[in-house]
Amino acid sequence: MPKIGNSNFVNQKINENNIYIKKKFGQNFLVDQNVLSEIINKSEITKEDLVIEIGPGLGSLTERLCISAGFVLAYEIDSDLIPILKDNLKEFDNYLIINKDILDVDINKDINEYKKNYKNIYLVANLPYYITTPIILGLLSKTKEIKRYVMMMQEEVADRICGKPKTKDYNALSLAIQYRATSQKLFKVSRNVFIPSPNVDSAVIRLDLYDEEPYKAIDEELYFEFIRLAFSQRRKTLINNLSNKYEKQFILKMLNNFNIKENIRAEELDLKTFVDFTNYIKENYNE
Ligand code: SAM
Repeated sequence: MPKIGNSNFVNQKINENNIYIKKKFGQNFLVDQNVLSEIINKSEITKEDLVIEIGPGLGSLTERLCISAGFVLAYEIDSDLIPILKDNLKEFDNYLIINKDILDVDINKDINEYKKNYKNIYLVANLPYYITTPIILGLLSKTKEIKRYVMMMQEEVADRICGKPKTKDYNALSLAIQYRATSQKLFKVSRNVFIPSPNVDSAVIRLDLYDEEPYKAIDEELYFEFIRLAFSQRRKTLINNLSNKYEKQFILKMLNNFNIKENIRAEELDLKTFVDFTNYIKENYNE
């Protein structure tokens, strides 16, 4: 029976160990066994899988991962939590806690060291919300080894990551992530199931990495730069945003080439069109 993810257990540990909860590390501990079960179900992990966790905290999710996965590699920045975490997980031997900032980790090196006996590599985490975007974009750009990501984050960010064209949530982040993976919002999580409770609601999303991206930018760096430029000021037309870098004549020619109206806004265009634009620029633009 999992024991960590409930409010009595977490409160007791906080009191016993005099834990000072660090807001600057986004520490909100999940204390709901149903939410934890749902995260595990949707992750579809088995004993054949290596799971990476970011921010194990007091171990509510780590405990569940140790039960379901072959091995768990968990990165925790807060060294004060580590002895308590290890004590909470003392009945397991299929995990390793690495006391590092996830943003500084050489993830491929660690994966190579631990992947040998495992079939798939997945990431399952209740993320520190203050660095959700750099974590995801960083990992997606650094490694193709992690095939599935199931992550809890602030609901607003979840909506952006899963945003579709012509909706208010669709932006450069949607396009950056959907370039590499399918994205799916799984379910909403109330702020009331955390200690302490954050001042935003949360959601769990799932990303499944493409083996081969369906639309491929010849120059990926240019694609990532281009989507940021295209959405730099949301209320402006695409031409206005792009003219910070490209001559208007060139942009008009490009829009014309793809039969797209001149007053289009970035949020009306799908991923394929953004990739087409980037490839057009790569082939036709001379700086
Ligand atoms: N997984 C636990 C749970 O669900 O109860 C804790 C989740 S809490 C939202 C985020 C965790 O990430 C905290 O334990 C925090 O210390 C850790 N953290 C914050 N910044 C980090 C970083 N840069 N690298 C690794 N861990 C980090």
